[in-house]
Amino acid sequence: MKTKLPFVDLKAQYKSIKNELDGAIFRCIEDADFIKGSVVERFEQCFASYIGADHCISCANGTDALEMILNALGIGDGDEVIVPALSWISTAECVSNTGAEPVFIDVNSHDCLIDPSLIEEKITPLTKAIIPVHLYGNPADMHTINEIAKRHNLFVVEDCAQSHGAEINCKKTGTFGIASAFSFFPSKNLGAFGDAGAVITSNPELAEKIRMLSNHGQLKVKHDHKIIGRNSRMDSLQAAVLQVKLRYLDIWNNLRINAAKQYIWYLSGNMKISLPVTQPGHKHVFHLFVIQSENREDLISKLDAENISYGIHYPHPMPFLEAYGYKNLTPSDFPAASAVTGKILSLPIYPEILPEQIKKVCDSLS
Ligand SMILES: *Cc1c(COP(=O)(O)O)cnc(C)c1O
Repeated sequence: MKTKLPFVDLKAQYKSIKNELDGAIFRCIEDADFIKGSVVERFEQCFASYIGADHCISCANGTDALEMILNALGIGDGDEVIVPALSWISTAECVSNTGAEPVFIDVNSHDCLIDPSLIEEKITPLTKAIIPVHLYGNPADMHTINEIAKRHNLFVVEDCAQSHGAEINCKKTGTFGIASAFSFFPSKNLGAFGDAGAVITSNPELAEKIRMLSNHGQLKVKHDHKIIGRNSRMDSLQAAVLQVKLRYLDIWNNLRINAAKQYIWYLSGNMKISLPVTQPGHKHVFHLFVIQSENREDLISKLDAENISYGIHYPHPMPFLEAYGYKNLTPSDFPAASAVTGKILSLPIYPEILPEQIKKVCDSLS
């Protein structure tokens, strides 16, 4: 049996910095520093400065980060929030869980990102915010989205769960809206050893509110519950892991970009395959390397035959998931998202992927 070429290889990443990670983890255990300790504070400061914002509020996961931003902005019952039709469910779920309605917008067929030209027609007096997603690590068109938001007095909340380190004109994603949400789910570009997430903002009032929400409504003084909050904190062990890994994020992102360049070089002659597209001035950090093809099923059987892993991100536009069936939306409402979900195919990508592995994937697709 040939060993399977994995989709991501978290074991390889661990091996490459095992001593540093083990040391950081054992220090936490020896110090009995488990929740919201000094390690967490240090990571928050380092991550805020890496992104180029004033505040980082760590929390339990990326979905909570999104939801707490909406809570802190006062979004809830009766409000509407604009989201792309294609994303991980969290982008819509966070809106629904506040009591507001997600309003889905179709995506561009070339890059699967929210199509800004379709946003304005969906804005109503109830619309409060737009959540662009930098899907696959590819920055959304923040310039146009921010112009629309300004015209209609809407908040912009970035979903950066796939875009750690991605940039637009040398400015990091996560700094273009009022606040942004990051996930440190293990397979993300910066991943913990379990669930973890963070909010990034440069708005001090919002930062303080989210800090309270995430810790039972307390701020500095224990048992002084100023508002009704929740328990959404980052474990010190996760912060210790992330603190070590943050030092490698730029190196890892560059390795991903290099891997993407090799894929593009090998696949550019394949007329049956459309390659990822990035806007000028945008730095795509290739959380995923997503190609499109009319003959996807054919490509999948070739990958299966060579024992190569792949993914589909995502098989269904969010409006057509059973959870949103009550909206009675149809493919004619989202022609681009409906079409691309039949063509997209994510190839293996991770910093440690070898040139010969990339060649093997590309050869199998030819
Ligand atoms: C991973 C992800 C999230 C949610 O992150 P969790 O930490 O798993 O809650 C949100 N949005 C997008 C686009 C994601 O990929």
